[in-house]
Amino acid sequence: MEEYDKREKLKDFYLKIKDCTKCELSKTRTKFVFGGGSAYANIMLVGEAPGKNEDLQGLPFVGQAGKILDSLLDSIGTSRDQVFIANVLKCRPPGNRDPGVEEIESCKGYLMEQIEIIDPKIICTMGKFSTQVLLDTDKGITGLRGKVFRANGRLVMPINHPAAALYTPSRMEILRQDFKKIKMLIESGADTEVLHDDLLNIENEGGEKSGEQLGLF
Ligand code: SF4
Repeated sequence: MEEYDKREKLKDFYLKIKDCTKCELSKTRTKFVFGGGSAYANIMLVGEAPGKNEDLQGLPFVGQAGKILDSLLDSIGTSRDQVFIANVLKCRPPGNRDPGVEEIESCKGYLMEQIEIIDPKIICTMGKFSTQVLLDTDKGITGLRGKVFRANGRLVMPINHPAAALYTPSRMEILRQDFKKIKMLIESGADTEVLHDDLLNIENEGGEKSGEQLGLF
């Protein structure tokens, strides 16, 4: 797809779904949060759902967790205008409760369409819900975090949600380490032939091997 087409397609898709009423969250949202960044990004970062600030502003990751995400992106020499940031749900669950199963089922097709249009080589799933949707698994984030999977021709790397670092500062270091690996994925061009040894090397530093994960899906 031509780059110009990607931008136009994404804009058309936004206009098509911005007034969605497919689930109950349409009744309680302030603003629909489509996501933001570059339509030409090689990497997408996918969170769970808009929070209070996102709901008020209609933008993804603009609260405290957004500041952490910005600093992590900065730490690997990139910024949110070079990536695309989205959520599984486009509308805020009241009180920031967890997304419901039916809400995810209603909304996840929009995320899949965004991925189809942007066509990133790497998807970084932030937290349990986006990881389970993108890897089509019911496993928790703890056992998947920091590993690299291949799903539908793309690399998928689950990490903790940046909000986790707000309440547990030690998780910030884990996020920093995971972002270093994301940088390596980006620099490799997501070429799994090139990546395989590098990933093993990096995983061996942490005492694990990732070879099984690559190609698992
Ligand atoms: S959460 Fe998704 S499916 Fe539900 S109303 Fe919002 S856009 Fe539509």
